[in-house]
Amino acid sequence: MSKIFHRTPIQIPLHASSGDGAYLIDQDGKYYLDGCGGAAVSCLGHSDQFVKQAMREQLDKLAYAHTGFFTSAPAETLAENLIARAPGELDKVYLVSGGSEAMETALKLARQYFIDKGEPKRHKVIARQQSYHGNTLGALATGGNKWRRAPYAPMLFETFHIAPCYEYRHRAPNESTEYYGKRAANELESEILRLGPESVMAFVAEPVVGATAGAVPAVEGYLKRIREICDQYGILLIFDEVMCGMGRTGSLFACDQDGVAPDIMSIAKGLGAGYQPIGAMLCSRNIADTITEGAGYFKNGHTYLGHPMAAAAANAVLHRLIHDGLVGRSKEMGDKLKAALEERFGEHPHIGDIRGRGLFIGLEIVEDRETKEPFDPARQLYAQLKQVALDKGLMIYPGNGTKDGMSGDHILLAPPFIITDDQVGELIDKLDQTFDQVFAA
Ligand code: PMP
Repeated sequence: MSKIFHRTPIQIPLHASSGDGAYLIDQDGKYYLDGCGGAAVSCLGHSDQFVKQAMREQLDKLAYAHTGFFTSAPAETLAENLIARAPGELDKVYLVSGGSEAMETALKLARQYFIDKGEPKRHKVIARQQSYHGNTLGALATGGNKWRRAPYAPMLFETFHIAPCYEYRHRAPNESTEYYGKRAANELESEILRLGPESVMAFVAEPVVGATAGAVPAVEGYLKRIREICDQYGILLIFDEVMCGMGRTGSLFACDQDGVAPDIMSIAKGLGAGYQPIGAMLCSRNIADTITEGAGYFKNGHTYLGHPMAAAAANAVLHRLIHDGLVGRSKEMGDKLKAALEERFGEHPHIGDIRGRGLFIGLEIVEDRETKEPFDPARQLYAQLKQVALDKGLMIYPGNGTKDGMSGDHILLAPPFIITDDQVGELIDKLDQTFDQVFAA
């Protein structure tokens, strides 16, 4: 019997023993096409020689040095390389061990910024319903996923949630996409005014929503209007690009495609591509300067900040993404995968929506295509889809519909950027067989 607390109620976890490109291989030698990169992590697949070599070389030099004493060449290089490509005025980097830590850091930095700026009343966070920003208590408090929050409600600080930008479900039939985007963004202004602008610290959003909704991009103009509102009321804009960043949507950062830069941005997952656990928070020069002139330093810390091995792996990942053209490949293969999905499932009676950008694609499952009526969440279709696909040798990332009928079950596809045309074909065929089996039952 395993001595590990496993996270999945669905099945006894398989034992992964090795990886080969876009495949994971279990202990019996069965191959699984990684159609979701785990949770949109493995952007380079499972056997990238360049990253592995960079890690070996770093290990021979230095595995770890505490940042209370030292910085290191891999950490400094990574910070420089991220800043060189980051949007807007992002100018400083804080290297942590994963996405939740990056989000906690973002929240704490925002708070210290306002204290150092002499606006200590600002502490309220506005985020969106159906969002996920991590599982530590601060990040969990920020997210709007009711099911994940419920058991911890008394332990979570108070946050405020507006509707997500979710065109498939929330745009009225007679509304243009442009009007809808503005209307959805203006909910932020109403909420700020309701709470009192002088008490609001930050607005947090994923530019393309991942786990809780299945690759839902903001409509054009939405994030621009959000930026305007934040500027008007002196509120920090925090983008959570933990899942949608690092080339996943076909540009290095998802917000690049919206032409909007945040004040703070968190990244993780694809940054280490699964080779090392690493996340990062990036903040604007203005925030960094305010803190330098205020307390003098950011009052936060973790044992594994700026971990040299993790940073060396991330530098190699970044090299592969940029110099080997893999961000471009995410766009190219994403377009192909989406077109193939539309061709095969565009008229499917239970696929209501196919959406996303780059190799970050969501399919929403509905009982009735015309009315968009979701299946009863009690049926846990998402779990059945995951299990049946696994039996067929395909990994897909499942998401459950909400009980209030606001969204259906969905699946997220986020394969490695090295996926080939043949593997796209394999993914579609296995998904087709999975749908046939699950929907016939
Ligand atoms: N933010 C988003 C958008 C995420 O998708 C996740 C992970 N699913 C997190 C934060 C938390 O990251 P981690 O699991 O690495 O702590």
